[in-house]
Amino acid sequence: MIIRCKTCVYPTTKPDLMFQDGQCQACINYRNRPRIDWRQREQELIKVLERSRKSRHNHDCIVPSSGGKDSTAQVLKIIELGFKPLVVTATTCHLTEIGRQNIANLKLHADTIEVDPDPEARAKLNVLGMELVGDISWPEHAAIFSIPFRAAVDYGMDLIVYGECPQREYGGPINSESAMQMTRRWVDEFGGLLGLRPSDFVGHLGLTEANMQYYTLPSDAHMVGLKAIWLGQFVPWDSHANASKAITAGMKYILPSEANHWPWENLDNAQTGLHDHMMYRKYGYGRLAGQVSVDIRSGRMSREMGIKLVEDYDGKFPFEYMGVKVEEVLDRLGRDMNWVDDCMTYHTDWSLFESYVVNKRPKLKAPAVVG
Ligand SMILES: [Zn+2]
Repeated sequence: MIIRCKTCVYPTTKPDLMFQDGQCQACINYRNRPRIDWRQREQELIKVLERSRKSRHNHDCIVPSSGGKDSTAQVLKIIELGFKPLVVTATTCHLTEIGRQNIANLKLHADTIEVDPDPEARAKLNVLGMELVGDISWPEHAAIFSIPFRAAVDYGMDLIVYGECPQREYGGPINSESAMQMTRRWVDEFGGLLGLRPSDFVGHLGLTEANMQYYTLPSDAHMVGLKAIWLGQFVPWDSHANASKAITAGMKYILPSEANHWPWENLDNAQTGLHDHMMYRKYGYGRLAGQVSVDIRSGRMSREMGIKLVEDYDGKFPFEYMGVKVEEVLDRLGRDMNWVDDCMTYHTDWSLFESYVVNKRPKLKAPAVVG
């Protein structure tokens, strides 16, 4: 049986999420937001940017990007503050048409480097990630950190500006929301690698050490002086505001699938539907639950409405995601639906669900509220 936060709809099964008196850490952090002097934080950010080492072409920092709403808003914010970002885009595992258009759109606003690692090796990592830890997106999680850090080393830059601090916005261990700088330890703990190190893949399905380079952070010696921060620690984070800013700047969007609530998030990778569905099976909550939780916290939606939407749509199987059929996603990996069924059965936490499954969506046992 799943137990939910009494304010939003996050379950206690969400990894790393702490609860106090029935309320999750994401809701507590949100309530504490006004205590932060955001004007002073923005001044601190300006100082950090002023101190950064510029690239040969006068870029002040790297903004890691997928071309989505957050990266677009990050880039525009840095420009607004009077600085020049270099966008480093790690292409997603199965780039969608809209994803491609949005990368092209962001290139209109800032210089961009696009890194697109070997698709064959990446497909093997998708397969292994799904089989070993139920996460098709393992290479994407790894690349989001390793590729911008590698680009910073290669270009002699010393500042990377990521988006939101996940522990502040979505909750984590107590006090983890106050980290101001991303470290190797942080990436190991919270980078979504699920305990798998890049070296663990070497030798499987013919993967070599060279294949894993793009998924590995540079050595400590190379990272001396290199700083990675979250914009969301200096500017109050608002997904809706980011989306409207990005849309005004030309970003295209559609609702990716029925299991999503926001039409302007996670548009760039056709595999994300499977990633989100596996999250639902492993932890009892999917993308829609995460998105409506944000909306409940900010007062845009009632908790009752959120629960209703979760019951009706969260965790629905992505037969189609961003207009791409699941069979096409699997074709590229050389796998079929039987393989997905096996992975799903193996990685589902059956203690959370009724034993029957309709349209590949297991039904949650009746939910309860903490406390
Ligand atoms: Zn909550």
